[in-house]
Amino acid sequence: MLKDEYDVIVVGASNAGAFAAAAAAENGAKVLVIDKMHSSVNLFRHWLGGVGSKAQTKAGINIDKAKLIEFLSAFAQDNVNQRLIKTWVNNSGEMLDWLEKEVLKPHNVHLYVEPDAKYETLINKAFPTELHVSADDTSSDFTWGEYLLEKNRKLGVEFVYSTKLEHLLVDEKKKVVGISVKDETTSEVYQVRARQGVILCTGGYGANEALVQKWAPTLFKKCVCTVSPRDDGSGIVAALEIGATKDDEAASIIFDRGAVPVGTNMSTTYIKKWDYKSCVLGSYPLLKVNLRGERFFNESAPYQFAMNSLLHQPGNLEVMIWDENTLNNLDAFHTLGCARLGWPGILGLEQQKENINSLIEDGIVKKAASISELAEKLQLPKEQLQKTIARYNQLCVEKKDVDFGKEASRLIAIEQGPFYGVTIGGMLLATLDGLRVNDKMQVLDRNSMPITNLYAAGNCSGGFFWGSYPDRVPGLTGSHAMTFGRLAGKYATQDADS
Ligand SMILES: Cc1cc2nc3c(=O)[nH]c(=O)nc-3n(C[C@H](O)[C@H](O)[C@H](O)COP(=O)(O)OP(=O)(O)OC[C@H]3O[C@@H](n4cnc5c(N)ncnc54)[C@H](O)[C@@H]3O)c2cc1C
Repeated sequence: MLKDEYDVIVVGASNAGAFAAAAAAENGAKVLVIDKMHSSVNLFRHWLGGVGSKAQTKAGINIDKAKLIEFLSAFAQDNVNQRLIKTWVNNSGEMLDWLEKEVLKPHNVHLYVEPDAKYETLINKAFPTELHVSADDTSSDFTWGEYLLEKNRKLGVEFVYSTKLEHLLVDEKKKVVGISVKDETTSEVYQVRARQGVILCTGGYGANEALVQKWAPTLFKKCVCTVSPRDDGSGIVAALEIGATKDDEAASIIFDRGAVPVGTNMSTTYIKKWDYKSCVLGSYPLLKVNLRGERFFNESAPYQFAMNSLLHQPGNLEVMIWDENTLNNLDAFHTLGCARLGWPGILGLEQQKENINSLIEDGIVKKAASISELAEKLQLPKEQLQKTIARYNQLCVEKKDVDFGKEASRLIAIEQGPFYGVTIGGMLLATLDGLRVNDKMQVLDRNSMPITNLYAAGNCSGGFFWGSYPDRVPGLTGSHAMTFGRLAGKYATQDADS
């Protein structure tokens, strides 16, 4: 049991927390990290975004910072704190350089850079922010989280797992002086003091049904499941209890990959049901129709836009349709980030086929010799589906999507059987609205004044995203958590005025 006093306590041992702890320890602080779960090593993401890192400069990538700030702000319709976006743009390179030099290189791992993030259309403007943790440029290093935790331990950081923050402790001047925690194994509750600050890095709230109902109820219609079961929002709630404020409006990151059985009713899914299947192909802009068999939007939109669009469609689910020829030409779609074909560690064509075959065996993906048979298996109106595909094929021949504006390079006709189809809804990766913070990562109270000694970073902090995730700036969520975690660790251990 811990009953000690530390300079800095970090709550949450994941992407934001491990970077915050290392930065605070580098500044000489005695640092404790707690996490309510028994481990965090598998939470560290291997493709990360950034601007101006040494790895990018070496690869000849020069991102126009002003244009990127403008893009991210415009994407959120300015429902963000632009200073925070500027802070990320100006500091993510330093975070990546530190990661590569201090954590990866000692293990012969480095950051591999992809330069070709470009699209033709307005909604698909993209920036080459992608980097990948890789040892050999052909595969991902999924173990680097262990290297980061090891680096922390070498810096003297103490990790205590299975220990949950319940409340923040404040003195009579409302200054945060420590935390009250529960040992998840013994149920014992006790207090730990923090001399310089508490940094909340507790992630989102997507697994807390009551909070989703309160702050982001449309997630129940957009998502068939959440894949972040730890996200109970308890860090956000603890800060609100002592007078902090949070974003007024919701933000989230949703994958268009939640493959569900034909006939699924959305009101019986989401966090009530955990046995979801992931269809990676869902993030490719193939033909997608609603449950009436009609095409309803430009499939080339960022991956969350499809799920937004489904709010206006019957049953809130889409059905993706393709044939063998489409599958063999997947590289023509030139998708980015975690949907990039064959990106180190992400599915190549053969692995995509394996994923589909396993979903066929599970009865989730349907395969048929004709469109009419496919329609029957997918419970779609036969005539309408045939009509939709005929129209789509005509647009493919003309190489111009006058109906919804998909790029010519992404128009591939669906002509020859076998034909395939799968019903898809959203998979919530994380909620992204959170506690209001300033550009020193200090949590703000209801008068927009910093709460002394309280910091937040990552998905429990807000002001950075609004509405949907801008996936055309690949790796942004993980990088936002790491960059702001690192800054929070620095600010918590330096003079407030410096
Ligand atoms: C499947 C998946 C793949 C992803 N891939 C990528 C990617 O490739 N690139 C990318 O940039 N982003 C990716 N993301 C998003 C990225 O993982 C998150 O944005 C990032 O993890 C956020 O980091 P965080 O530290 O803020 O929160 P989290 O990673 O959610 O960590 C929060 C931690 O706090 C702990 N915690 C919560 N409450 C308490 C409490 N009360 N007391 C103690 N501990 C608590 C939790 O147990 C958890 O360990 C992915 C997300 C998912 C789900």
